Order: sequence, then C-alpha cells, then structure tokens
Amino acid sequence: MAYKTVNPFTNKEVKAFTSLTEQEVAEKIDQADACYKKWRRTDFATRRAVMKKAATIMRDNKAEFARLVTLEMGKLISDAEGEVDLTADIFDYYADNAEQFLAPEQLKPKDGRKAYVEHDSLGIILCVEPWNFPYYQLVRVAATNLMAGNVVMVKHASIVPQCAEAFEKLMLDAGAPKGAYTNLFVDSRNIAPIIQDHRIRGVAVTGSEKAGASVAGEAGKALKKSTMELGGSDAFIVLEDADLEKACEWGMWGRMNNTGQCCVAAKRFIVVESVADKFLAQITECFSKLKIGDPMDRSTTLGPLSSEDAAKEIAELTATAIQHGAKAVIGGKRPDHPGAFMEATILTNITKENPAFYREFFGPVLMFFRVPDEKAAIELANDSEFGLGGTVFSKDIKRAQHVASQIDTGMVFINRPTWTTPDLPFGGVKHSGYGRELSKEGILEFVNRKLIYIEN
Ligand code: NAP
Repeated sequence: MAYKTVNPFTNKEVKAFTSLTEQEVAEKIDQADACYKKWRRTDFATRRAVMKKAATIMRDNKAEFARLVTLEMGKLISDAEGEVDLTADIFDYYADNAEQFLAPEQLKPKDGRKAYVEHDSLGIILCVEPWNFPYYQLVRVAATNLMAGNVVMVKHASIVPQCAEAFEKLMLDAGAPKGAYTNLFVDSRNIAPIIQDHRIRGVAVTGSEKAGASVAGEAGKALKKSTMELGGSDAFIVLEDADLEKACEWGMWGRMNNTGQCCVAAKRFIVVESVADKFLAQITECFSKLKIGDPMDRSTTLGPLSSEDAAKEIAELTATAIQHGAKAVIGGKRPDHPGAFMEATILTNITKENPAFYREFFGPVLMFFRVPDEKAAIELANDSEFGLGGTVFSKDIKRAQHVASQIDTGMVFINRPTWTTPDLPFGGVKHSGYGRELSKEGILEFVNRKLIYIEN
C-alpha cells in the first residue's frame, strides 16, 4: 500500500509519501550495517543517554506527537497523549534497566570449571509494525534493540507515515547515529528481499495473522529468528461473584479503548448466566452514552476507526454475524455520520456455526456470551485460535487465579482488562504469535546468549 495520511474523521487525504526504490533500500541497509559495527561497541552510558533524551523530547513535545496520532489514525486525543507518555516511560525503563538485564549470567557447570553466558548483540533487526499504537509499537522494538547494541530498520504501517517519520526524527534528535533507527517506506510485498539480506539478523512483526504468517515464512526460509505479536480475541470472563459495577466499568474500557482496535481488547464477554442479564443491561447502557465525534475534541468518547477500509471491514463482519443469527442489542451498522465510523455494538446469540464466532472484531463491537458456570466459561474462552490476553472477574482472588491458570493465552489479568506497562512481558500463544516484548524478556529476544567456558 502507498504511504499516505488520510484523516479518518473526514476521510480526506492530507499528505502522500513516496516509497523507497530498491536502490534506496540497499543504501539504507548499508548505512544501518555501518552504524551497527560502531553502535555494538558503544557503552551502556552512551545508549542510555539517547533513550533518556528521547523520553524527554517526547514529553516536552507531547501535544505535537499526539496530534499526529489522532490525525492519522483517529485515536482520541487524550488517549494519544497517554500513548506518548507510555512510550517515554518505555524509553526510560530500558535506559534504567538494560545494563542489568544484559549482565553476564554466571553458570555452575558440574565439572567445577568457570562458565558464563554473555548477551551479545546480533545485528540489524527488521521490524514490521501496525498503526494502532503508532509510537508505542515502535519503542517496544527500538528501546530494547538499541540498548542491546542492535540497530533497527522499521517498516511502519502505510497509514501512519507522519508518525513513522516523527519517530525516526526523534531518535536522531535524541543523539542516535544515522542508521541506528531507520524508517523504511516500503510496500509489504517488497519485504521478502530485505529479510533475505544476510545483514538482517532478526525479524519482529506486530500485526495481523496474515502478515505474521507471510513474514514468519520468509524469515523461516532465510533461517532468521522471528518474534510474532499478532491478533487476539481475548475473553473477558465475569463470574457470579464479581463486582459487577467494576466489571462493567472495566469491560467498557477494555472493549472501547482505542475504539476497540487493540490486540488485547476484551473482545468476547463470557458471563455466568446468573448475572448475565444484569451485566448486559449495565454495559448496554454504558454503550448508549458514547458520543460520536471529532477525536481532537475532548468531549468525544467514540472516535472514528483508523480508516474507511477498517470501518467497512468491521461493518461487514457485523452484518455477516447478524445474517447468521446474531442479535444486535445496540448498534450493528455504520452510523449516519461522515468519516470512518462504526456504531458501538453489542452482539448476542452468536453460535459456533456463525462465521463470526472465531473472528477478531477489531473495532467497537462486543460479542456477548452466556455460560452456565465457571467450567463452561473456561471452555469457551479456550475455544479460539487466538491466545493473547484475557480477563477474569471475581471477588475471590484464589478462584480467579485458578481460572486464569486454565486459560490458554500469554497473559491473563484478574479484575481488570489486559493491559501493558514497560515491566510486564507482553505476547501470546497459538495464532497470537510467539516471543515476548517489554520487560526483561523483551530485550533477550534478539541477543546472542553466548556461552564462555574457561578450562584454565
Ligand atoms: P496488518 O495489516 O497485518 O499490518 C501490520 C503491519 O504489517 C503493517 O506495517 C503492514 O503494512 C504490514 N503487512 C501487512 N501485510 C504484510 C505482508 N504480507 N508482508 C509484510 N508486511 C505486511 O495489521 P493491522 O490491521 O495494521 O493491525 C491490526 C492487527 O495487529 C490486529 O490483528 C491486531 O490484533 C494486531 N496487533 C497485535 C499486537 C500484539 O502485540 N500482539 C499489537 C497490536 C496489533 P501496510 O500498512 O503497508 O499494509
């Protein structure tokens, strides 16, 4: 797809960008490789200073960074500001902790000799990133890899080119040398030859299953390590002993945050029968109060989706679900409003035969299921190709922990929706991918855990 900014609130094109030629890509790889040879030998203090400066620049220019996000993909302006803060926090986190995370690990071999594992850099890491958190997704790969001595080349989503350029400029302004962080405006069809270049030593993808499968296949063919952060259809389980008010409040946030376009959004609400009517009535009322409007306007609570295509796609998926017997308790179609909008929707009566049952609803559409008990809730939660996050609501924490242990996903949150902080590992299983980002685990994905053994 061509790189361009189209404001989803108006569906008007704002600015178009030119994709790189093959020759330009080759030059950028040369530059990244030359940079890597020096960057890998820099000390932690040098790398830390760049991260700290990047965090400060982001915070000092929060309004402008946030404005670009809202302009390009329609995130509510206050959420865009929250994303800028979170991104800065991740820079700080790795500045403060990377050296300790990457310290040599002493081993105790049985033969009594000395041995240890050191964490060496790998080279250029190619990253393919989505539009839904245009800076947060980038810092997850940039801060980890740059602190580990790698350099990154990033193919950002084609609908957020101004955010992509702003982040590259941020890294340069923060003092990163040219080639340490490279923005690549390349068509996704031209990713394969880049992966094959021998200087690319790892590939990280965040995006859909389809993109993940394609890039992981190419990485596999070229024997490159990859990490995949893909889609999800997280269960939000409400047990009969839950604090319903809290569950409803968090459920609303978990589904509607970022207009429902989060990989870890609560997408399938699984509520035990005895409290199902009450919960459904409460959350429907919350949905009915959402106010559609300009995402730059702070009184708006339901912004547009990221693009007209995204709005069409979720409207079509919703229509298919309804054609196959689902009932829209509220919403169900595109509203009578210009821009990439979709009504806040709650679907019930979704049977397993419904083609929508196993799909990821990437937008403001909540799937509601009733189950007789805890056991049925766990079974339904696990009846998904995805395995990213999930939530259990119960006042009995021991019980909730027991349920959480039986859910087949990479993350489960008790009494709140799945979310992210710099120090918590993030990632999934099954079709939600493999590998982890953030925390100590994230920085260890693309390092050479090199054994050194001393015979004397
Ligand atoms: P997407 O269409 O897969 O796009 C993501 C990135 O992959 C974009 O840069 C896109 O480029 C690129 N891409 C698409 N097809 C490709 C291919 N065949 N080869 C190489 N690159 C390709 O996904 P999206 O619609 O932007 O994002 C939503 C998806 O991402 C959802 O499924 C969501 O759950 C998932 N996600 C997962 C996480 C996580 O951490 N697990 C976080 C956020 C989002 P173009 O823009 O040029 O097409």
